[in-house]
This record gives sequence, C-alpha cells and structure tokens, in this order.
Amino acid sequence: MTAITDLKGTFTLNNGIEMPYLGLGVYQSENGQEVVDAVKWALEAGYRHIDTASIYNNEEGVGRGIAESPIDRSEIFVVSKVWNSDQGYDTTLKAFDASLKRLGLDYLDLYLIHWPVAGKYKETWRALEYLYHQKRIRAIGVSNFMQHHLEDLLTDAKITPMVNQMEFHPYVVQQDLIDFCRAKGIQYEAWSPFMQGKVFGLPIFKELAQKYNKSIAQVILRWDLQKGVITIPKSSKKERIVANADVFDFEISSEDMMVLDNMDRNERTGPDPDNFDF
Ligand code: NDP
Repeated sequence: MTAITDLKGTFTLNNGIEMPYLGLGVYQSENGQEVVDAVKWALEAGYRHIDTASIYNNEEGVGRGIAESPIDRSEIFVVSKVWNSDQGYDTTLKAFDASLKRLGLDYLDLYLIHWPVAGKYKETWRALEYLYHQKRIRAIGVSNFMQHHLEDLLTDAKITPMVNQMEFHPYVVQQDLIDFCRAKGIQYEAWSPFMQGKVFGLPIFKELAQKYNKSIAQVILRWDLQKGVITIPKSSKKERIVANADVFDFEISSEDMMVLDNMDRNERTGPDPDNFDF
C-alpha cells in the first residue's frame, strides 16, 4: 500500500497516472463566487485535485478558481463527468467539449461516466476511449458502477476504467466491490464521505474523534485513505476546507479501522445505482 504522507500525495492509476488521494468536491457549491473561492482556498491550502461534473452547473466557476489561483494548471488534477442525458457516442464527445469550454481548459485529468445508464454506457465508454487516445483526457473512469455493471462493461471495453467513484462512508462500505475493483486494477474513490453532513450528528464518530484528538471529518477522511480509497470531501467554507485536509499527523489503529468497517449497514445517503430513474 502506498504510504499516506501529505495533501499532494497520490495513488497510481492503472495507466501510471498519479491521482492525488484527497481532493475537493464541489457538488452544491454555487457557480460564481462561492465555488471560485472554494477552489482557490483549497489550492492555497495544498489541495491538488478538484472534482466537478457538468450536472453541478459550476464548471465555469471551477475554471475561474483554477485560472485565478497562482498554482499552475499542470499541477492540478481536474475531474468532470458526463451526465446521463448526454450519454451515447456523439453526444458524449459534444458534452466533453462543452465541459472543457466551460472550465476554460484544454484537457481533463479524469473524465467519468456519472451513472450506469442502461443501454447507453458502453457507447459512452467508447467515446471516452476515443478521447483518451486523442490525449484529451489523462485517465478515464466510471462512477456508480456496481460489480455487474463493471463486468458487463469489461466484456467490450478496450481500456479498463482507471477509477470507480462510489458513495462510500462507514454506513455503505461495499467491501466486495472494493476488492473486485482492486483485483481489476480499478482505483476506488469515495463520494459523500461525510454522508452529506449526517456523520457529524452521530455519537459514535464523536467518541472516535475524541480518542484521536481530531475532528470527526478528519477521522473519516483518514479512514478512507488508510483503506486505499481516494476521497473528495465537499465544503465551501475556508476553515473547513483547510481543517478537513489536516489528516497527515495521526494514524487510525487497525482495531479502530475494523470498528469503522463494521459500521456498514448498506445504508445510502444518495441514489442506488441499481435503481435510479434519472
Ligand atoms: P460530503 O459527504 O462531502 O458532505 C458535504 C457536507 O458536509 C456539506 O454540507 C458541508 O457543508 C459539510 N461539511 C464539510 N466539512 C465539514 C466539517 N468539517 N464539519 C461540518 N460539516 C462539514 O457530501 P457530497 O455529496 O458533496 O460529496 C462529496 C463530493 O463527492 C461532491 O461534492 C462531489 O464532488 C462528489 N459526488 C459525486 C457523486 C457521484 O454520483 N459521482 C454524488 C455525490 C457527490 P459546507 O459546505 O457548508 O461546509
């Protein structure tokens, strides 16, 4: 396992690309000054990975934040996603161009299929493979793909996805899926690591946080990283963006890693990839 060292630390994807293991999520950050500031504060704090999507309607703001930051574009790992209504071959190519234009960038570091839309995702994947070969994306991946979606995709894919971004927190662990992805060389990544904020009200996390003299957010993110899972906590508040990334001065014991793992109850905060209608 890669050592977890600092905010610029990376996991290596199956094509050799280095992906920073802690990034900033921007779902529900408003396009405009809110997201511009979040991105600038994160980069200033040392984050080198930003996760957006066309459906978040804030790619322009993310692009502005990157442009206004003194950090060179080449040092930032920028991720976006193709939305469900754009899936299909030609439509994905167009959606990709539109995302780049809104971001004001000429390449992406990672582009994901946002959801496994039945009957569409294989054509979408073919478009991602094309864009990857054109060197317009450094890595390609999926999101919300259960094992059967991945198995189906892999029957036709020329390229194995580099990443699978899934809902992941102590209430929805899906260890079998993590193990399957690892065996295939697909990097697992957590969305909603804080259950969209619900973790902060649960007493069990308060106890663990006190034990380590860290915040609940820091304990959860450290657990992600020690499990080898890339994580993208969202905040639009400067103090939280800075504090959430302060996870490199402690280690969770293997015993407490198990405690967190065993909280799993397959309880989702967001939609179920096997049963969504959008
Ligand atoms: P998170 O689990 O990251 O939780 C975000 C919430 O927690 C916000 O309300 C935020 O509020 C609050 N918060 C953050 N830090 C703290 C703190 N230290 N103390 C108290 N509250 C805090 O939710 P997201 O759903 O946003 O997930 C993270 C990212 O994952 C998204 O932003 C997006 O990039 C990605 N994602 C991907 C999906 C997919 O389908 N692929 C689906 C959903 C998310 P505030 O901003 O006010 O600080």
